[in-house]
Amino acid sequence: MQEHADAVVIGAGLAGLSAAAYLAKAGRRVVVLEHHSVPGGYAHEFKRRGYRFDVALHALDGAGPGGWLHPILDDLGVLDTVPLNRLDPLYALRVPDFEMAVPADLNEYRNQLVAMFPAEQGGIDSLIGAMRDVARDVGTYSRDRAAGVKVPQMEMPQRYPAMATAFMSSWADFMAAHVSDRQLQAVFSVLWGYLGLPPSQLSAGLYAMAWTSYHVNGGYYPIGGSQAISRAIERTILDHGGEVRYRQTVTKIEVADGRAVGVETDRGLRISADLVVSNAGPGVVVEMVGREHFPDEYLQRVDADRPAVSNLVVYLGLNRDVAEMGWTHHEFFLSEDYDLDADYEAMLAGDFDRAGMVIADYTRSDPGCAPEGGSVLQLLTLAPWDYANVWGTGGCLDGYRRNPDYRRIKAEAGERLLVRAEKLLPGLRDAIEVMEVATPLTNYRYSLQPGGSIYGREQTVTNMLHRHSPKTPISNLLLTGAWISGGGMSSAMGSGRTVASIAASL
Ligand SMILES: Cc1cc2nc3c(=O)[nH]c(=O)nc-3n(C[C@H](O)[C@H](O)[C@H](O)COP(=O)(O)OP(=O)(O)OC[C@H]3O[C@@H](n4cnc5c(N)ncnc54)[C@H](O)[C@@H]3O)c2cc1C
Repeated sequence: MQEHADAVVIGAGLAGLSAAAYLAKAGRRVVVLEHHSVPGGYAHEFKRRGYRFDVALHALDGAGPGGWLHPILDDLGVLDTVPLNRLDPLYALRVPDFEMAVPADLNEYRNQLVAMFPAEQGGIDSLIGAMRDVARDVGTYSRDRAAGVKVPQMEMPQRYPAMATAFMSSWADFMAAHVSDRQLQAVFSVLWGYLGLPPSQLSAGLYAMAWTSYHVNGGYYPIGGSQAISRAIERTILDHGGEVRYRQTVTKIEVADGRAVGVETDRGLRISADLVVSNAGPGVVVEMVGREHFPDEYLQRVDADRPAVSNLVVYLGLNRDVAEMGWTHHEFFLSEDYDLDADYEAMLAGDFDRAGMVIADYTRSDPGCAPEGGSVLQLLTLAPWDYANVWGTGGCLDGYRRNPDYRRIKAEAGERLLVRAEKLLPGLRDAIEVMEVATPLTNYRYSLQPGGSIYGREQTVTNMLHRHSPKTPISNLLLTGAWISGGGMSSAMGSGRTVASIAASL
């Protein structure tokens, strides 16, 4: 007999898990079907020879007391079992000959900036104020929506003026209205890598929200890594009668009479359901359902989507504590250029000697990740999917990991990041016990995100102004995750809550 669930959730990324946990807590019998063998999507880890590597997370925003994510983490059962480490300094940066450690306290940071750029004092204050206004408006907007207040589109600029202005502007234009010093602009923009587009293309509304979330409420790292968060949410699902099944890749969403009626996986598992929620993005969902079930207008929007950028990561397990080598930063942004748009272009061209990179030392934020006296480092740059003819594969992913061209190109690219890191950390290479390199293809393999995207679709001004709705033309088929809410782990969990509340009103 075919199985039945009240709700099937496709994908156990943080968004899918969170949606499932909320639905299960609301009394629905939920089954989550996940392609990989562990929960979390990008929020997972791997282990090698006593070193534990977080695949993705550097810093979680909104997580601390007073932060917007805090009540969600509470709902999801994360706060009961996962201690959160407040990161201070928040991060350090070099752009390119100017270096500073950024204190977690915003006033302290503001004072340091004013001391360094006295001529820009007014602009520093007005820019920080403008970003905080955006965050405040977004908070009001979210509370209004939750209370069922629907403000007509025409009245949005009156009711949420800072939000409306910022979401119609690029970060470059928004910032230029306040500060003009190139160095200072680069300092303010350093978190652009967390959003995947350079200042001229990036939505100012999104950037202001992310910046204030990190700088006002703090950046946090979960002890035990992002996998600890994923496991905690999985526990909540199980405790409320739900199930999470692994190595089940959904290949088909069945539709009858305009409603989703169930799903089918690559292993032949079929489950009928009253509700289907997908953590896979709209483009993938359209193919799983069949294009004939969607109106042209919807297909045109979905077809126009471009995945956000992917990344290249070098994971290092070291037999030395890098603090003893003089390296004390848990998160260090390195940019070779004040012009961050040029930096982005270099990345797109595969110039990994020049593209901005991040060096993250997890030993500072989560000391248990390395054996005694050792360290775990991550070297990361954004990276395009199509670099070197799709990383030497020509786009053929069958058995790509054994393809000698792929192996060579991947090793060479990783080496370029290592050479740059070594200049900052002399002796780094001699301390390496474990080294793994991940490419956009690795991202795809584990997440099935088109293009190995790490933030869903590109977070441009237009895309953030006109987001995809969690609702689809099929009323009981809903979407959650980065393609809907924007990238980032906090967003993913927020998106899970949103979709569950929509489901409650169906
Ligand atoms: C290296 C790296 C560093 C990052 N750093 C940070 C950071 O510091 N802070 C931050 O907030 N964010 C960071 N991010 C971004 C963040 O990880 C993602 O934006 C976020 O986790 C996306 O969550 P999601 O649930 O939308 O999707 P995903 O995590 O991609 O999850 C999607 C899930 O759905 C599953 N799935 C897809 N299709 C199917 C199918 N057909 N059948 C079954 N299962 C399916 C996938 O296997 C996957 O588990 C980083 C990402 C990377 C890669």
